Amino acid sequence: MTSEQIAPPHIPIAALRKLARHFGTPVPGFKWVDQLSGDTPGRYNEIDGIRLLTSPVPAVPYRDTLTHEFAHHLTWSRTPPFQKEPRSHGREFFEALVQTVEFLYEDPSTYVWLYEIEQIVRWWNVRQSRKPAKSA
Ligand SMILES: [Zn+2]
Repeated sequence: MTSEQIAPPHIPIAALRKLARHFGTPVPGFKWVDQLSGDTPGRYNEIDGIRLLTSPVPAVPYRDTLTHEFAHHLTWSRTPPFQKEPRSHGREFFEALVQTVEFLYEDPSTYVWLYEIEQIVRWWNVRQSRKPAKSA
C-alpha cells in the first residue's frame, strides 16, 4: 500500500473539515475500515459518514474516493428530507462532485474521472467539451 492510497486519519479528517466549512455542511464522520461487504472502495451514509477501505485500490488514491463520498454528503445535505436518495448518482450528485473537485484539486482534470460511474464520465466529458479552449 502506498502513501497515495492511505493516509493517517488526521489528513482525511482535516480535508473533510475544510470541505464542510467551505460548503456549510455538518462535518461528516470518517473512518478507515479493513473490509466491507461488496467491492466499493468507499461508502457514505448520513449516520456513519464516510468509510474508506484500507485495502489497496490500484490507480485510485484515497483522496479521489474521499472526494466522491464527500459529494454524496454534500448532495445529502442539500436535498430536502422527503427526496433523499443517498446512493443516487444523478445530476445533483454530479454538480456536487464537480464543486468538490474544483475546491480540492488545483487541476480538476486530475481527478480520476475515468473510474467514475459511466453517466458521471459522460456528463464530465460534455462539460469539458463545452468549455472555451484556453488561449495560450
Ligand atoms: Zn457513489
